[in-house]
Amino acid sequence: MISVNEALQQLLASFDPLESELIPLSEAAGRILAEGVESGIDLPLFTNSSMDGFAVRSSDVSNASQDHPVALFVVEDIPAGKSPSVRLAENQTSRIMTGAPIPDGADAVIPVEDTDQYDQKSRSNFELPSKIKVNRAVDSGDYIRLQGEDVKQNEVVLHSNSPLKPQELGILAMLGKSRVSVYRSPKISILSTGDELIPVGEPLESGQIHDSNAYTLSALITRDYGYPEYLGIVPDNEDSVRKFLETAVANSADLILSSAGVSVGVFDYVRTVVENDGELTFWRVNMRPGKPVAFGSFQGVPFIGLPGNPVSAFVGYEVFVRPAILKFSGITEVPRYRIRARLMDGIKSDGRESYLRGILKYDNNEWLAQLTGHQGSGNLLSLVQANALLIIPPGVKSLAPGAEVDAWLLD
Ligand code: AMP
Ligand code: MG
Repeated sequence: MISVNEALQQLLASFDPLESELIPLSEAAGRILAEGVESGIDLPLFTNSSMDGFAVRSSDVSNASQDHPVALFVVEDIPAGKSPSVRLAENQTSRIMTGAPIPDGADAVIPVEDTDQYDQKSRSNFELPSKIKVNRAVDSGDYIRLQGEDVKQNEVVLHSNSPLKPQELGILAMLGKSRVSVYRSPKISILSTGDELIPVGEPLESGQIHDSNAYTLSALITRDYGYPEYLGIVPDNEDSVRKFLETAVANSADLILSSAGVSVGVFDYVRTVVENDGELTFWRVNMRPGKPVAFGSFQGVPFIGLPGNPVSAFVGYEVFVRPAILKFSGITEVPRYRIRARLMDGIKSDGRESYLRGILKYDNNEWLAQLTGHQGSGNLLSLVQANALLIIPPGVKSLAPGAEVDAWLLD
């Protein structure tokens, strides 16, 4: 049986970045950049005040203190958005607000709180005074944000293939970039196979269960910057399976993702149908849970068949589908937090690469790992309670308490 690593390599070889599109910045949240972004300007664009106060020549106030305030003559008012026009001469000051450009001649700002213009109740006085008193000294450069101290012109600010998080959108706006080149979101068609499945919201009869995988998988796809399209529940017969797969192709899916029906059961038709109209690269992987994972293509569209058991479907998604979807946007390093943790309990395995549900906690300078609940691959609560997948390498049949394992943090 093929190893997890071999299977992943074979699968990833079939995925290439999608085309890019230019979209308005207002629609770019959660999309993946298809271009690197260099700054055309310095940020800040101009040297400005970081406080509401008074722009000064620091040498004029070098002896100022609470007991011996220094008087300065006010020559100009500089609210944010206005350009200063007066150069400060000796013992002159300009009132300045946060974000307003520093006038020529000034090399520091005195916060209004450190002048006689600050009134605890009414913030500061509205009228522009002709004269003020300064209660403290400042060093040259104090409360001044220098042009280019954040970003220099021509500096690379964002790299291609990175997700546009809220702060990235902010910096693109600062740069004046109203349109941005991103990868097209991959469309992932989801189908849930099984005669026992009933949509959530409809009552169950004997032997039936609700289709839960569709919900988990849709949310995972959205997290991974894909666009999930749920096609519905597929009855266990060849014709229905073919019909649903054809619908996915007709809807221009970039990837068809099914759950269940790929094992060795008498009614597991998915493999047969895919093989008849495409190819199957593998259909079993040496892992636990999730051995019956199938990969191939149907009518030229990549196909991944996950196992039906909810925990297996989740693990199969994390191991195979997530890297595949990210590769559609040129992301080749899956962003995962890996932690080395010490097992609190002993673990038995069957020699397959295993992904166990566990809780990691930091205690006494180390990470400790404990299994959650009943580890059966149908028991979703064990995953709900977990914050990590503990990875037992292939070939290992048991681990004693205190042994170290690798773990993937789940979020
Ligand atoms: P199968 O791979 O078809 O043998 O299914 C394995 C197990 O997963 C069975 O217990 C199914 O009832 C269950 N199962 C299959 N599909 C789903 C689904 N969409 N949601 C929840 N459980 C499922
Ligand atoms: Mg089934």
